[in-house]
Amino acid sequence: MKIPLPSPKTHRPKRGRKTRPDSDLLESPAMTLHHQVGNRAIQQIHNSANPPAVMQQALTQGALGAQTLMRQKTEEPKPEDPTTLSGAHWHDEFPTSTELSDLDGTFAGRVQKFIAALEKAGATVEITATKRPAERAFLMHWAWMIAKKGFDPKSVPAMKGVDIHWWHGDQAKSKDAAQAMCDKYQLNKLKVPPALNSHHITGKAVDMKIKWEGDLLIKNAKGIEVLIKSSPRDHTNAAIIRMAQTYQVIHFKDVQKDKVHWSVDGS
Ligand SMILES: [Zn+2]
Repeated sequence: MKIPLPSPKTHRPKRGRKTRPDSDLLESPAMTLHHQVGNRAIQQIHNSANPPAVMQQALTQGALGAQTLMRQKTEEPKPEDPTTLSGAHWHDEFPTSTELSDLDGTFAGRVQKFIAALEKAGATVEITATKRPAERAFLMHWAWMIAKKGFDPKSVPAMKGVDIHWWHGDQAKSKDAAQAMCDKYQLNKLKVPPALNSHHITGKAVDMKIKWEGDLLIKNAKGIEVLIKSSPRDHTNAAIIRMAQTYQVIHFKDVQKDKVHWSVDGS
């Protein structure tokens, strides 16, 4: 599966969008000001000894006012759109690939060889993530920081192209929404925040679960057979992690903190 390139425009969840009705402008401070300017000009026309010159001036003022109003209209704050608030629905945006073909070519080749050896030895392999868009890493990172570390939702930096609002008006609601995102992204077992500059973004990391039963007789990258009798019989096994190194597929250094993450350098 190929990941669609992020749109150059600001991205928002695909839901109904509300736009501010033009009638709001009538109550805006800008409009009140223009009424005042207009009223003053009309007053001047009434009082003037030279009405055409004053009318000309009033028209100029009116045109300038209209220009200002148009400018303010386009610069007004974004319409209040509830789908831009943080929450579980963001999970469906900026999807992560699970295809090896989306990885960096060199790394993909190493992972493929390691998987081939595992499968030949009778192990089961499940790939849960390969290349991840930077926007998704941003969403995962800050959801985790707010939910797990109590990070201030109002202090999260903006990311170009991601129109998300983390602040729901109070701390508890904002934290709940971030937690709902962590649930959907399955981040609750992580002891460190998902990295903003993860190797997943450049296609140099894979999240991969491995399991087998009994002893595992597997060939390393040099073709030498190794018998693994130790447990646990999964991706956290020290011997399988050493085996992977021969293929230059390096498990996350702190094994228990991210049990399924493998990359070019273990970060
Ligand atoms: Zn990972």
